[in-house]
Amino acid sequence: MSQQPAHVGPQGPTRLIVLAGPTAVGKGTVAAAVRERHPDVWISVSATTRRPRPGEVDGVHYHFVSDDEFDRLVAEEQLLEWATVHQVARYGTPRGPVEESLAAGRPSMLEIDLQGARQVRKTMPEAVFVFLKPPSWDELVRRLVGRGTETAEERDRRLATARDELAAEAEFDVTIVNHEVHAAADDLVALMRPA
Ligand code: 5GP
Repeated sequence: MSQQPAHVGPQGPTRLIVLAGPTAVGKGTVAAAVRERHPDVWISVSATTRRPRPGEVDGVHYHFVSDDEFDRLVAEEQLLEWATVHQVARYGTPRGPVEESLAAGRPSMLEIDLQGARQVRKTMPEAVFVFLKPPSWDELVRRLVGRGTETAEERDRRLATARDELAAEAEFDVTIVNHEVHAAADDLVALMRPA
């Protein structure tokens, strides 16, 4: 993997971590564990056109925006990357906050889908691309079903996407197997602070 520090701020060199992996592997849960255990790490808040799930807070979990608003963000080139995920909704990373966080020397992380990770690879190749992998396919299915937030039709669509996404592991710099959420979070944070 690349050993170059991406940005040097007042707190020394930090790297941008791009966390991707198949749907329902637990990227969101690992990101939440990073937020809780490592409050110094900045995690990007994406814009999305999907509706909030129960308990999700605008500006915290996502910036929930209309289609028109998303069009405007794209037209004004305010997104570092964006993609239509699961053929349903658009998701994108606001560019300004990422640049500000890195300029301030904060360890920074994006949690995005594979299409988005491929775009960031082109524009910020010095970032570290991390693939979060489930312990097994059965475990991935169990997590997706257990979440219970999708309809059967949407779940099937997400599983089909997940099968393709698992095949992309080789494109990444590092693989972390999500056996246990806190261990995965600590492994991720260790990558942000090169020795
Ligand atoms: P969910 O709807 O379950 O919150 O997220 C669905 C998928 O969208 C996840 O795979 C998540 O990583 C991805 N995602 C969330 N934010 C972004 C983003 O800003 N850009 C891209 N490309 N994907 C995102």
